[in-house]
Amino acid sequence: MFKKILIANRGEIAIRIIRACRQLGIPDAVVYSDIDAGALHVRIADEAHYIGRAPSIESYLRSDKLIEIAKQAGADAIHPGYGFLAENWQFAQEVAEAGLTFIGPTATAIKALGDKLMARALMDNAAVPTVPGGSVNINDIEAAQAVAEECGFPVLVKAVAGGGGKGMRIVELPDELENALQMAASEAGKAFGDARVYIEKYLTRPRHIEMQIARDSQGNAVYLGERECSIQRRHQKLVEEAPSVCVDEKLRRRMGEIAVKAVTAAEYVNLGTVEFLVDQNRNFYFLEVNARLQVEHPVTELVTGIDLVREQINIAAGKPLSFSQEDIDIRGHAIECRICAEDAENNFMPCTGEMISYREPSGPGVRVDSGVRLGSVVSPYYDPLIAKLITYGANRDEAIQRMVLALSEYRICGVTTNIDFHHSVIGCQAFARGDLSTDFIAENYPEGYCSEQLPVADARAVAIAAALSHYYDATGIRQLKAIQGSGDWLANARREGTRRLEGGGW
Ligand code: ADP
Repeated sequence: MFKKILIANRGEIAIRIIRACRQLGIPDAVVYSDIDAGALHVRIADEAHYIGRAPSIESYLRSDKLIEIAKQAGADAIHPGYGFLAENWQFAQEVAEAGLTFIGPTATAIKALGDKLMARALMDNAAVPTVPGGSVNINDIEAAQAVAEECGFPVLVKAVAGGGGKGMRIVELPDELENALQMAASEAGKAFGDARVYIEKYLTRPRHIEMQIARDSQGNAVYLGERECSIQRRHQKLVEEAPSVCVDEKLRRRMGEIAVKAVTAAEYVNLGTVEFLVDQNRNFYFLEVNARLQVEHPVTELVTGIDLVREQINIAAGKPLSFSQEDIDIRGHAIECRICAEDAENNFMPCTGEMISYREPSGPGVRVDSGVRLGSVVSPYYDPLIAKLITYGANRDEAIQRMVLALSEYRICGVTTNIDFHHSVIGCQAFARGDLSTDFIAENYPEGYCSEQLPVADARAVAIAAALSHYYDATGIRQLKAIQGSGDWLANARREGTRRLEGGGW
């Protein structure tokens, strides 16, 4: 087993990996940028090493420094987490060349799967169904039109090197194609240093359903069930759940076996996720492979009872999987809400600030994977993910009920978050029915999201409560409403104000 693991990441995922290291009895080391000197992952880690200035290009993306620090610290493995360098094949190669273990797939597998055209070709060869589409050359519009016509409009122009939902353009009509190709290529060139684009049929109201897989270096491969991640903004996930309401045992087996076939074709070793889009007739199409630990891995952990990060480290150390396909038993239901510093009322714009009040929910079936504490600062330098709130229940209704309660217990002041938005999503009828698609937000919030506004019936109550809670943000609206509806508004306003000033209560 490894002597020490260097974690090349920050925030909640660094802490999640530290926990897995401790379970395995492996010492851990983390890195931090100057703005993260007081961050929670630095406090918790066995040791922490300064890496550079706040911009990630000068810190968490410095592959040379990461390898140097790993060596100095006596670490023999590097865990990249997700984001940053997790799917950078050059980094995986440099780590291996330095004689260290990269806790993830090989550079070759990452390279093949990170290039979406190469990945599609690999899947075609393995007879895995892909979304209709093909490669295009932006200088040959006629040929591009032919590819688009064959798919049928609308089509989606995507970046070959894309990720994080960036660089995609929907094209409704043939005469919009040329311009869209030019724009997408230019965006892709700037964002990924690779201007190649391709065309895919744009599926209407698909579900995003992905299959978790694990494959060890002996070639044992297992699928651990699906996650539904259809609730997205800007093609990025916001709410995930396992299992999916639209997947039955038969479909799970079909998707799982296809996913195993896909990763086996890529000679993939480690944890991975095969993403699919599922249309309204429950046909599924390969989208991509995420060659790393996923943000949403906890929902799978809860329904399978398997510690995926511990398993991932074991696989990297050359151990065989600790389970076989027959051992995988999906029980109950889990939901994850990504708690982000962003303004749902303003097109989900990322927000910054200091947590002047912070309290996490808990209770039966509640798990919080967070990277912050009271006084933490959300800066503009990194991803605005603050925490992942995950609930588990014997069935979907119970998981939803626990999520509603947990969201109402979650208290963050000083930074605008999407907690109220999550409340609205989890509490809405369409979510309760499981009527999900990647258009969920557009369909259910056609005018954009607007938190419940107060009818100003008793302006005095509102004014007093607002004054008492003057330095708290808009997350207080729910409480203000409760005050307004009550009889003894002044006493209640005082109580509420005091409670908030002390940061207590739910
Ligand atoms: P990225 O690698 O940037 O995350 P993906 O290919 O994984 O891009 O797609 C991200 C999301 O974009 C999907 O979950 C889905 O919502 C949307 N999307 C991608 N391809 C299509 C498609 N062909 N039709 C409809 N939606 C799509």
